[in-house]
Amino acid sequence: MKYIGAHVSASGGVWNAPENAHKIGATAFALFTKNQKQWVAKPLEATEIDLFKEACAKYGYTAAQILPHDSYLINLGSPREEGLQKSRAAFIDEMKRCELLGLDRLNFHPGSHLKEISVDECLKTIAHSINLALEKTSGVTAVIENTAGQGSNLGYTFEQIAQIIDLVEDKSRVGVCIDTCHSFAAGYDISTELGFTQVFDHFENVIGFKYLRGMHLNDAMKPLASKVDRHSSLGEGILGVIPFQMIMKDPRFDGIPLILETPNPDMWTDEINKLRSYQLI
Ligand SMILES: [Zn+2]
Ligand SMILES: [Zn+2]
Repeated sequence: MKYIGAHVSASGGVWNAPENAHKIGATAFALFTKNQKQWVAKPLEATEIDLFKEACAKYGYTAAQILPHDSYLINLGSPREEGLQKSRAAFIDEMKRCELLGLDRLNFHPGSHLKEISVDECLKTIAHSINLALEKTSGVTAVIENTAGQGSNLGYTFEQIAQIIDLVEDKSRVGVCIDTCHSFAAGYDISTELGFTQVFDHFENVIGFKYLRGMHLNDAMKPLASKVDRHSSLGEGILGVIPFQMIMKDPRFDGIPLILETPNPDMWTDEINKLRSYQLI
């Protein structure tokens, strides 16, 4: 079973996200559980939690179909003590918000070394941050997203992600989200059938599908290995249809949220329908 959706708005309150997802015909969705541009949010109230859970039940969304995303401010690999402490506290808070909402995973970008520490040092810091968060929470998996490698962002190779996972103590609560645009921007050519097959064979060898907890389905605006993170709507970028057809036909991508983060929300219904149609080919 494929769960297909988009990163929908939760403006006005988290409970609005399930309805927004339902309106576009989605069977999965992503959301921010707080304002993603701010460090601190007021705690979730019991009524907000109830409204969210009721809306999920009403529209038929279970935790396996929902992929919350953390704030872009958080850098779990920060070389700066103050930034690191702030990031760790904010990440733990976000994990706890997921727990309260009955969600079982939190998607995040691993972190950046800001050119102040080595890649190894940064990856170790990220793993330590994950360990601290897992100790202080329960039931929520930390889902590492692969990045385009823009700036000093790490997690653009499967090896880097594997290195983080290796240092996480509770392997049952660490996972991975693969973004198609980020993969291509990082140099993984998934635009052809052969390329896609080789990249995901490599993924299986280095990380393993058992860690896959979600996918971001975005076409890419910039060329292979550009290291530039710019999403396009499906069919409007360089990736073309092949990788999306491959994903939709491959049972290794069943049972996890497949999330569009494409730039035009007016196209989401069509993009979801298009993805669904690939299953039938
Ligand atoms: Zn993404
Ligand atoms: Zn991106």
